[in-house]
Amino acid sequence: MIGAGAVGAACAYFLTRKGFAVHVVERGAVAAGSSSAGEGNLLVSDKVSGPELELALYSRALWEQELAQYGELWEFESKGGLVVATSAQAGRALRTLAAEQRQRGVDARDVEPDAVTDHEPHIRRGLAAAVHYPQDAQVQPMLLTAHLLRLARAAGAVVSTGVNVTGFEVQASTESRRVVAVQTSQGTLACEQVINAAGPWAGEIATMAGVDLPIRPRRGFVLVTEPLPPTINHKVYAGEYVASTQSEHLGLEVSAVIEGTKAGTILIGSSREHVGFERRVSLPVLRAIASAALELFPRLAGVTLLRSYAGFRPYSPDHLPVVGPDTRLKGLWHATGHEGAGIGLSVGTAKLISQAMAGEGTDMDLAPFSPARFEAVAPA
Ligand SMILES: Cc1cc2nc3c(=O)[nH]c(=O)nc-3n(C[C@H](O)[C@H](O)[C@H](O)COP(=O)(O)OP(=O)(O)OC[C@H]3O[C@@H](n4cnc5c(N)ncnc54)[C@H](O)[C@@H]3O)c2cc1C
Repeated sequence: MIGAGAVGAACAYFLTRKGFAVHVVERGAVAAGSSSAGEGNLLVSDKVSGPELELALYSRALWEQELAQYGELWEFESKGGLVVATSAQAGRALRTLAAEQRQRGVDARDVEPDAVTDHEPHIRRGLAAAVHYPQDAQVQPMLLTAHLLRLARAAGAVVSTGVNVTGFEVQASTESRRVVAVQTSQGTLACEQVINAAGPWAGEIATMAGVDLPIRPRRGFVLVTEPLPPTINHKVYAGEYVASTQSEHLGLEVSAVIEGTKAGTILIGSSREHVGFERRVSLPVLRAIASAALELFPRLAGVTLLRSYAGFRPYSPDHLPVVGPDTRLKGLWHATGHEGAGIGLSVGTAKLISQAMAGEGTDMDLAPFSPARFEAVAPA
């Protein structure tokens, strides 16, 4: 397993339960990548009808059932989401989306504009529409990653941090190429199968294996306020956020995404940009995020920000994760490309990978997520 983020950790957890001998190799610390950069929302509300929504509902069932016994460890909170629209046009789009989602089994409840303050007393007045999504939830992503790895280790997995993967050893015959070992900064590790769970760096790992995988980093900032008395009850965001997650636009996208935490701090997002792995703070982006949040919660004016942080979402050009075996190199699997939903989708992804690797039927069809859609082989 390459990568000890939420996805790699979840794969390690489910694979050890299937009896696989698992070795997780991570160049930094546990959750050193994207998995320490997000709010940890497990959302169904922001998914349009299609395979990603199905994967979100499948994952949601795992969080609530199979993994319920561990919920306290990773601070699982079924807080619900509230999506709001400030204009009549955005309101119509939001209601249409909710109606489509209901047909796919999502619990999406229209809220009359004058009843929105029953859900969020401090939200601005005069909203055009709102929808309440009781199934939206949240976990603490670093605790999630650490505990999944601890549980995997207890079932026999080995986790090596501070070990950089640098290449692959491939056995080639006239019919096929097969990976037989992974080269690392600490030596060569023989393997029968290897999962590329390197998040936004998954494209680089694929290139090392001689295959093309167009996963790119999509930067996002989060603002963190000083601890406040309970102010915001749900995950609250503007309906435009859904369009932003699906957007092909390469420039900056900002939409208001706000929520409280158990510690009292308020997390404020969100931005999306293609700027490579550039980490430097961008004041214009932080300002744009803050003003979008103030539009929805004027009461936040004057609140002190403790800090901001940036992270990189593993962006896939067709907005679908890449999950499954790579037909171009036997033994290589990918579990990546979840963009802004990799915490929520980690467990569903991992359970499906474990079933496929064990040669069992999978609970969901993996075809829409197949790496085969990116067929070109990178030049040697
Ligand atoms: C601002 C922001 C907000 C977000 N909010 C949410 C949210 O609310 N809900 C949600 O579900 N998702 C959210 N996300 C997205 C989520 O964080 C990612 O989809 C998820 O963390 C991806 O997990 P991962 O395990 O695939 O990748 P990562 O966590 O990035 O793990 C990959 C690991 O691979 C390691 N690695 C890379 N190259 C090598 C190498 N050569 N050798 C060894 N190790 C290597 C890295 O060090 C890294 O630790 C957000 C992201 C951002 C940036």
